[in-house]
Amino acid sequence: MPYTYQCPRCGTESRRYTLRSGADGHGSRHRYLRHGNDHPLGERVEHLTWGSLFARASAWRLTKGDRTALAVVVILVLWSIWTTFTS
Ligand SMILES: [Zn+2]
Repeated sequence: MPYTYQCPRCGTESRRYTLRSGADGHGSRHRYLRHGNDHPLGERVEHLTWGSLFARASAWRLTKGDRTALAVVVILVLWSIWTTFTS
């Protein structure tokens, strides 16, 4: 389940991250750039539910790490199919 960083002071929500560390990193960068590294009251990292995912699926974007992991999985699947039919 993905995670998102929310800043109530700015009224913003980050894109979705597969890992909590991605949302935490987004929050750190947001605090540094927008709030001089102060912690806005009420900021949080939200663990999204399946219902909220389907409600706003258009906001989903893959991070660089997600794309790398997906590429590795696709290559491994193709390699295993190749070796199954050629050996
Ligand atoms: Zn903010």
